[in-house]
Formats: sequence, structure tokens, C-alpha cells
Amino acid sequence: MTTKVLIVGSGPCGVLLCHYLLPRGNYKIDIYDRRSDPRTISFSNYRAYPITLSERGLRALREIDGLEEVVKAQGVEITGTIFHIKNGKSKFVSKKKPLIGIDRTALVINLLEQLTKKFDDSQLNIHFNSKCTQVDLKAKTVTFENETTEELIVNYDLLIGADGCGSVVRKHLLKTEGFKCEQNYVRSQYKTVFLPAPSEEGHNLKLGNMHGWRTEDRITMLAVPQRNKTVSGVVFFPHENNQVTSLSSTEDVRQFFSDNFPEIGKSISDVEVEAFLKRPISKVSRVWCNRYHYGDSVLIMGDAAHAVSPFIGQGCNSALEDAVVLNKLLNDYSDNLVKVVPEFTKHRLADGQALLELSEHTFPLSKWLFFEYVLRMNFARMMNKVFPKYCSPFFFDMLSETTVPYSKILSSAQGWISKVKKSNDKLLQAECLHSLKEV
Ligand SMILES: Cc1cc2nc3c(=O)[nH]c(=O)nc-3n(C[C@H](O)[C@H](O)[C@H](O)COP(=O)(O)OP(=O)(O)OC[C@H]3O[C@@H](n4cnc5c(N)ncnc54)[C@H](O)[C@@H]3O)c2cc1C
Repeated sequence: MTTKVLIVGSGPCGVLLCHYLLPRGNYKIDIYDRRSDPRTISFSNYRAYPITLSERGLRALREIDGLEEVVKAQGVEITGTIFHIKNGKSKFVSKKKPLIGIDRTALVINLLEQLTKKFDDSQLNIHFNSKCTQVDLKAKTVTFENETTEELIVNYDLLIGADGCGSVVRKHLLKTEGFKCEQNYVRSQYKTVFLPAPSEEGHNLKLGNMHGWRTEDRITMLAVPQRNKTVSGVVFFPHENNQVTSLSSTEDVRQFFSDNFPEIGKSISDVEVEAFLKRPISKVSRVWCNRYHYGDSVLIMGDAAHAVSPFIGQGCNSALEDAVVLNKLLNDYSDNLVKVVPEFTKHRLADGQALLELSEHTFPLSKWLFFEYVLRMNFARMMNKVFPKYCSPFFFDMLSETTVPYSKILSSAQGWISKVKKSNDKLLQAECLHSLKEV
């Protein structure tokens, strides 16, 4: 019997999931996305920002024939991060296993292209510009709005909400008994930055490395040079008391980059300065849930289930890993959804929740504690090198270089995570009191 699967969201999670489900043979999939087909729109009109894929995400691609190769060919291999300090000085932190840097939408385009090469409309139909507005969990139907028809009601056997942090599917689960979820914004907001390929005098950021800057007032910039010599970057800044929201002219923007990120400031073009000024500020959500399923017919996955701040670079990696977890359960329970759907929560919830803890409390706000972080990292790496049998790798290396479950990594780093949480809470409280006094 064919199972009718309806996937809401054609982001990395939704599209990779199709790659896993369709070869099983007993699934017919309709995937809906509220946005336009990214394969047909220009770069300036799509949701562009650089992401890094580590072992976890790459393993998820590797299990599907040809996917890892295609994504690697499109992205850049990153062997370490260059932290730019003042006065042109820098510090390099290497990676044992390289990351792959790729634009989020370029990743989706590659996954879509491979998918439509392999499967035709007898098994797969993709509907863009179709926004999910309602889910009737009892009748097993979903309502979509698109540009031509007013409302489209579609039925399903299995519904997958892979519709990102603002998931409409998840919102409908809130009406079901015992389902709890929290969605809030993290302290950091961001704006993207793009440097064109240099014509004469351009940037000299090294290809094959990620580049990072951090200011005294906790603005962080990350930049990834691309193969075509362009640079994609993101400026993260706290939502309160920051320099970015007060930039009001192109001169301000140029000054901001020259003062804080001189290596970018000297090569940013006038066009990009203007674009940066006009570009809206984006917020980052975190999502915590106590369940990732409903009955035997609904699952939420990826950012819809466990969106996290981008600082440890695991949001997309974990979204891709969700597809691996579901596929394994389908194997283990011979596609019996009555068993598989609730098991997904059992197998994934602890890891999703641990990922939130790790994302929020790996990096301290305090300068001194950050110094301690670097000392701990160097010590743990040395011990692991000398006594690999007795000393496990540094927890951050486990995050980005292995597929060890997040809950295990959190257990091994619990002392540090609790220390950072305490310190960050204290610091933020003190800052809050200080700004109240100023008012
Ligand atoms: C600046 C930044 C940097 C990041 N860097 C990294 C990184 O280095 N490494 C990493 O692993 N992760 C990173 N992430 C996180 C990563 O982008 C996300 O975790 C990942 O995209 C999640 O994939 P997803 O498919 O679950 O959701 P999404 O990528 O959000 O896709 C959801 C899809 O659902 C669609 N949708 C939403 N609502 C509806 C609706 N109502 N109806 C129909 N369709 C809908 C959307 O259009 C979208 O296509 C970063 C995030 C940001 C913002």
C-alpha cells in the first residue's frame, strides 16, 4: 500500500527527507513551500547566508548516492578559523576534519536538482508559492494558499512539518493534549554582508578558512571566502545597545566596517555598503518542544522542532540528521508508522533538547571565561592526542567532527555548560540593572 506523505517546507530538512523516503518505494510525496522555487529566482531575491556543514550533516548526505560529492563540489572546504585581532594580527584555530561552507539556499538547490533527476511526478510533486495555513489533525488535511487558487485542501497519511522555526504545523500541535513548546528570539540578531570578487585591489581573506572578528561590545562577524573569490558573511549583534541599529548613512556603514572589521572595510563596495544599510535586520529563533510527534500521523523535524542559535553551527546539521534518524526507524520497524512516529520523539527529543543547551551555553560572554575556554580546548586536545584511549576529544570537536549524539556530548561537558550559563546570566542581569540605572 502506498503511504501519502505531505511535507510542509522545502528547506534542507524537507528535501533531504524526500531523498531518504522515495527510494523505499512505498511513499508518494507532495512537498509544499510558501516561497518561490529557488532554482528559478535570482541570488538577490533569495534567502542567502553562509552555513557550514560538519561531519553530522555530511554523513546524512553521504548515505544518499552522490549527494555529498555534489554539495562538496559546490561548497568550499574549510580547514580552520582565522580570528582577526586588532592591528592586523590574527590567530588560527585548525580543524581536524574540514567543514564544508555553502550558502543555505545553494544547498537546497543542489538537493532539489538531484531529487528531481531521480524521481518523477508519479512519486514526487513539489509545489512552490503554497503557504500552509491550517492543519486539521483529526480529518488529516492541510490547507494551503497560493497565488492562483484561493484555498487548497490536501489530505495525508503522514504529515511532516519541516517548515522552519515559525512552523505552522507545530502551532497546530499546541492544540493537542500534553504538547508543550517554547519559541523565543535569541539575544543576537544579524545582517548578511556580501563582497564581490575583487577587480584590482580586493580582500585578501584566505580561501579555505572561516574568518572571525569580535568587538568589545559583542558584535561578531563571520565571513567565508567562496571559490569565485566573492565573500559571504554575517554580522551578529546583540539586540540592545548595538552599533548596527544606529547606522543611518552609507558613511556610517563604511566607518563601522573600517573601525571593527578593517579587513572587510577596505574591500566592501559602495553598492554593498548601500545594500547593507537597507537590508532588514533578521532575528534568530530558538524552539524547545516536549514532543516531536502527534499520534501516528504527524512529525515535526529540523528547525520546526529544535531551532537553535547559529553560533555552534549545528542547526542545519541536526536538521539533516533528523532524516537519518527517521530512516533508521523506518528500517527498524518495517515502515510501520504506528510504531515509527512516536519512536521518533523517543529517539530524538533528548538530543534536540541537548542541542539547545549546547548552542546557548558553549561560548561565554565574559572575556576571562572565554580565555578559560581556549585553555580547556588546548588542554583537552593535547590529552586526547597523547592518551586517546583514556581522554575523550574536546566537546566542541565532538560536536563538529563526529556524530556522537548531542545528549552524550552535553553530559560530557555539563560542568562547563553550567558554568557558562551561570556567568552569562549574571553578566546579563548586571547589564540590565546598569541600563535601568541609566534610564
Ligand atoms: C545566519 C545563520 C547562519 C547559520 N549557520 C549555520 C551553520 O553554519 N551550520 C548549521 O548547521 N546551521 C546554520 N544555521 C541554521 C540553519 O540555517 C537551519 O538550522 C536550517 O536551515 C534548518 O533547516 P530546515 O529545513 O529545518 O528549516 P528552514 O531552512 O527554515 O526551511 C523551512 C522551509 O519551510 C518553508 N515554510 C515555512 N513556513 C511555511 C508555511 N507556512 N508553508 C509552507 N512552507 C513554509 C520555508 O519557506 C523554508 O523553505 C544558520 C542560520 C542562520 C540564520
